[in-house]
Amino acid sequence: MACQRLDGKALALRIREELAVKTAELKAHGVTPGLAVILVGNDPASETYVRNKGIACEKAGMHSETIRLPEETTQEELLARIRALNADPAIDGILVQLPLPAHLDERAALNAILPEKDVDGFHLLNAGKLLTGEASVVPCTPKGVMRLIREAGVSLAGKEAVVVGRSNIVGKPMALLLLQAGCTVTVCHSKTRDLAEHTRQADVLVVAVGKPGLIRGDMVKPGAVVIDVGINRVDGKLYGDVAFDEAAEKAGWLTPVPGGVGPMTIAMLLENTLEAAQRRA
Ligand code: NDP
Repeated sequence: MACQRLDGKALALRIREELAVKTAELKAHGVTPGLAVILVGNDPASETYVRNKGIACEKAGMHSETIRLPEETTQEELLARIRALNADPAIDGILVQLPLPAHLDERAALNAILPEKDVDGFHLLNAGKLLTGEASVVPCTPKGVMRLIREAGVSLAGKEAVVVGRSNIVGKPMALLLLQAGCTVTVCHSKTRDLAEHTRQADVLVVAVGKPGLIRGDMVKPGAVVIDVGINRVDGKLYGDVAFDEAAEKAGWLTPVPGGVGPMTIAMLLENTLEAAQRRA
């Protein structure tokens, strides 16, 4: 079977158009969804992500604010900003752009966000709800991956899923969502002894590591759904964690980088913000 490219850019565009319609309906009832993004320091990659999130918000008709804080911001100053946004009725969603400078406590900042305004789904309460299967705000990247897999028309129950990477923001929530969907899930990480032995068993392979070309063609099961979350900048160009051309020889479905998971993450952020505003309404 020829490999099909899972076009996240096109799907994200479609979702964003639908969200713009729903946003207009909500605005007609006097509620404008609002997202505030806090950016501490001058990391160029974070600058780009934050700018793209703001543009996407405005295109969907949502209110967007970016709070830029200097690198030397103290923990107390950061928490004070978060508390002010928690109390701001124009703001439905608050996002703290990660990573924070090393002197700041990331966990404390994320937990300071009101759970109902935590559109990234990183607050302990939302993470706990995801773990126990209660309705919760689902982290944007894994949520976007699930939508991409659904788009491929693949039924997940009973499938072998392998997630490479175990971070709190991608790998772990990804594994939980696949588990909830009925997959048998294996999570690999830097201590995994034979990565290829696991990935070759995967009907669904999600890779979120940050190492260009980590997954070679001979590590992919024929016909598998392969989702490449990785974003790696090499000489100014973007690459995923999967060697695309090699994997395309084996996979049934494959996401490109760029144009795969990245655009879906932003679309899901808008969806989470809209849902927070709908709860307020
Ligand atoms: P982290 O650095 O937090 O986690 C990376 C994970 O990869 C860790 O669990 C680590 O294992 C594991 N790992 C490292 N080396 C290997 C290896 N050789 N074999 C197997 N596993 C390995 O990264 P994130 O989860 O935050 O992000 C992962 C990638 O996804 C990055 O490229 C990031 O830029 C991208 N990303 C893309 C998004 C998008 O919208 N497309 C959104 C978020 C992230 P261990 O835990 O043992 O250290």
